Amino acid sequence: MAGAETISANAFESAGAGVSAPEVNVRLVVNLDALARNFALVRSRSGAADCAAVVKANAYGLGVERVSRRLYAEGCRHFFVATLEEGLELRGFTPDAAIHVFEGPLSGDTAPFVEAGLVPVLNSLEQVESWAPTERPAALHLDTGMTRLGMSEAEVDALSRRRDLLERLDLDTVMTHLACADEPEHPANREQLERFERLRARLPAARTSVGNSAGALLGGAHAGDMIRPGIALYGGNPFAARPNPVETVASLLARVVQVQRVERGQTVGYGATHRVEPGTRIATVAFGYADGYPRCLGNRGFAHAAGRRVPVVGRVSMDLIGLDVTALPADALGPGAYVELFGPNLPLEEVARLAGTINYEMLVRLGQRVRRDYVSASGR
Ligand SMILES: *Cc1c(COP(=O)(O)O)cnc(C)c1O
Repeated sequence: MAGAETISANAFESAGAGVSAPEVNVRLVVNLDALARNFALVRSRSGAADCAAVVKANAYGLGVERVSRRLYAEGCRHFFVATLEEGLELRGFTPDAAIHVFEGPLSGDTAPFVEAGLVPVLNSLEQVESWAPTERPAALHLDTGMTRLGMSEAEVDALSRRRDLLERLDLDTVMTHLACADEPEHPANREQLERFERLRARLPAARTSVGNSAGALLGGAHAGDMIRPGIALYGGNPFAARPNPVETVASLLARVVQVQRVERGQTVGYGATHRVEPGTRIATVAFGYADGYPRCLGNRGFAHAAGRRVPVVGRVSMDLIGLDVTALPADALGPGAYVELFGPNLPLEEVARLAGTINYEMLVRLGQRVRRDYVSASGR
């Protein structure tokens, strides 16, 4: 199985040094040095004074503990998560970082935020009313046109007249979120930025935070004083129609379980949707929709195996997919070899596009059986 070894070695090489021997069927290899370089790039391009990192949803599926520890080591002292639970977990490995929680205290339950020293993002006048008495730092989210989270113009007006609240509120950051930052020319960006300036002028002065990954890379008003990148740190292209400015961080490798040479005309997989001729070779790979592979990629997706792109044939099963590897030399791929499902040879964005989704969803849907392996030259 010389060919199989070559494939594995290449996969590890592309991922970096220090990977232990493979023993699981699916591995998400996370290059922490690339993460660090992306953090430095986004930070320098933004011109922002502070660079926070968004590590919600288990750091976009890459594993919040190793990701945030490494970002901390790179000087990151501000983190954003979506939920209180995520904030409490993150507190366990970043004892003195500022942890902002997008949802803020729900039902007026401020105690867990106070106890863990979390900074809530307040999204409504009601949340401001419940938080102000704590006299602890908070961020305020202004909804400037996304209609998702944040205070409306009317609420900002109401708050601006509430001296009782403003006296006690320790306003650390005023933030907003752009709906179309991934399309820099979209007119909604300018409209939202103008509304943001108008609204925040009615409130006490505070640090601003605007840019997600795309906004951060655009810089200036799109970034604000503190940026909040997520996807770009993890190697995902934050733009809809521009080249990817960051480098690959995550590579998804899955193991071949069996290779069959078809003896007669027959079909592959459930529903008999793909017919093959005698002489075709089908590699069955241990990765299915239970692991986060979109079922719609049956007869549509690709893998990178033994230096070539090979098609997914037949329907995606829960635990398995089929690849037509007839184009590869017969000894190039055997049981135990790894194929790449996205990574340096097969961009995440391309796989996502074929599946009718986006890089974010591909990453966060990876399942429980996918082992996260971390590589880093420095050992951090
Ligand atoms: C998820 C999120 C971000 C990060 O966005 P990316 O596009 O991943 O950089 C920033 N701000 C808010 C409010 C978010 O919900």
